[in-house]
Amino acid sequence: MTNNEKVGIYPGSFDPITLGHLDIIRRSSGLFDTLIIAVLNNREKNSLFSTDERVKMIQSVTADIKNVVVKSFDGLTVDFAKAEGAHTLVRGLRAISDFEYELQMAQTNRTMSPEIDTIFLTTDQRYAYLSSSIVREVASFGGKIEHFLPDEVVPLVRAKYK
Ligand code: ADP
Repeated sequence: MTNNEKVGIYPGSFDPITLGHLDIIRRSSGLFDTLIIAVLNNREKNSLFSTDERVKMIQSVTADIKNVVVKSFDGLTVDFAKAEGAHTLVRGLRAISDFEYELQMAQTNRTMSPEIDTIFLTTDQRYAYLSSSIVREVASFGGKIEHFLPDEVVPLVRAKYK
């Protein structure tokens, strides 16, 4: 990567990736030369999908967006961002309830690494209520999840609750 290439990082658990995440990916991919989707390899969280499964799922649903790459990471997001030559973290904001945590994270990250900034994209109204945990809950009770997920992700989530 050249020094003046604009690289953004969108970190998260994406367990599973929802239409809300995908909307943030589509919109933020236009702001950078390269957007890295950084899948957190959560050690203590019991995730539904393995890190590898989540990376593959995101690669498949973002295949048409040419400047998106999907990687997994461990440890601090800012350390990963630096290693990848990225100066901007992207986060989505849904409601005021997201704000307090996101502000705290952004300020912590900026204190640790002042050269890395966080930008927030507000959610599309259609997805304002949507979270991976809600999708997992609905799926666990056998509810309809088609409205929440990219088409190819639906059967993968269903299979986990068979
Ligand atoms: P985490 O596990 O760090 O809470 P997630 O993987 O759930 O994060 O989400 C990653 C990012 O995507 C966060 O910035 C979160 O606010 C954002 N996000 C999640 N769901 C939506 C949505 N429906 N609309 C917009 N942004 C969202």
